[in-house]
Amino acid sequence: MQFELKDVSFSYQPDAKEPKYAVHHVSFSVEKGEFLAIIGHTGSGKSTLIQFLDGLLKPTSGKVFFNGTEITAKGYQYSNLRRLVGLVFQYPEHQLFETTVLKDVCYGPKNMGLDKEEQQARAIRALKAVRFPEDSYEKSPFDLSGGEKRRVAIAGVLAMEPECLILDEPTAGLDPHGREDILSMCRELQGSGITVILVSHSMDDVAEFAERILVMDSGELKYDGAPKEVFRHVDALEGIGLSAPETVYLMRELKKRGYDVPEVVLNTEEAKEILLDIFKK
Ligand code: ADP
Repeated sequence: MQFELKDVSFSYQPDAKEPKYAVHHVSFSVEKGEFLAIIGHTGSGKSTLIQFLDGLLKPTSGKVFFNGTEITAKGYQYSNLRRLVGLVFQYPEHQLFETTVLKDVCYGPKNMGLDKEEQQARAIRALKAVRFPEDSYEKSPFDLSGGEKRRVAIAGVLAMEPECLILDEPTAGLDPHGREDILSMCRELQGSGITVILVSHSMDDVAEFAERILVMDSGELKYDGAPKEVFRHVDALEGIGLSAPETVYLMRELKKRGYDVPEVVLNTEEAKEILLDIFKK
């Protein structure tokens, strides 16, 4: 098991008379190599939750384990954890600062004290993993497109060769092509054995890419299950400010009109087949 959270709660004002909890009594675990998504309305506790996973925040109560070791224990050294758990913040490209792409991606390995050859080898592997074009390694990061900048920023985290990559809204502000690039890259990374945890607002994205979804609501874990399970609860999801992928609404509408279609379809290809079948009749 990669992560285990046991009854974790967190308040930004723990000493207040009536503390408000950003995360309240949350328990779940993550297997190594899983592709997990965390969804929830703004303010539901997603960002707080992911910061427990690399020790940036320590829960007010409860325990967090990484690879079987309690990271919330007194005296735990976080430096190794931060290398093994790569956290990609929202709009990570704002943190690019070096004169060339390659130098920027080398920054993490350099800080780890690796020699120059190893820094470069890791940076190049990471840039390849995010499918960044080789002839642009010497470009200034500031001359890149939005999607390219973001991929370079993600490569900067990957260059530390983490076991787990956590991305907070990695597709925010990108066009459909840029979104698809980032998400299929995440799938490839998972294929190479990395655990991927994705925080997202896009129901279509998580439905298509995640194997499992956690739904947060007001600091509490409302659902934890496979996408097909979670998106059965359309009404409840709407009640907490979320929605379901478009294909779920399409099936609902067809069902209302008397067609015998599955309740939850998450994939546009599958929806297309169902529609074609109906039109054939
Ligand atoms: P999400 O990522 O789902 O938008 P957050 O984890 O950022 O949710 O926020 C959960 C709750 O904690 C919200 O009520 C938010 O206002 C509060 N919160 C987040 N960050 C801070 C902070 N630095 N100080 C005080 N309250 C915060």
